[in-house]
Amino acid sequence: MKTECTMTKKCPMCGEEISAEAKKCKHCGEYFDAAGRPTSQKQRSTYILLAIFLGGIGLHSAYIGKMKIAMCQAAMGVGGWMTTFIIVNGGKHDNFSIAMAHISIVLLVSLCVWVLCEIISVDKDADGKLMK
Ligand SMILES: [Zn+2]
Repeated sequence: MKTECTMTKKCPMCGEEISAEAKKCKHCGEYFDAAGRPTSQKQRSTYILLAIFLGGIGLHSAYIGKMKIAMCQAAMGVGGWMTTFIIVNGGKHDNFSIAMAHISIVLLVSLCVWVLCEIISVDKDADGKLMK
């Protein structure tokens, strides 16, 4: 008697029957981890390196496809540094310049905290797939 050893499962992305052990869906090209969850082809180590070195312009978020967050971070980072640069070089110490300097420092500090939180907590890409 032949035992049934070809267990199948439904691909969560396209719904086609595939082998239960499949690491990659032959129909839609989706990747899965050992538990059968869809897996991102993005590397978490790359994400963290980008966050550390280029997180100030949101490149790590762009890498995993979170374009809106990336643009927001880039705006905060570039805006914060530009404002600081202009004020420091302008050498003005009127109330407006001092207020702007405080705002840009708050922006940059918030961005740092935000990126740090992401380094610690983000393990999925924009599609909700776990990074490698
Ligand atoms: Zn599929």
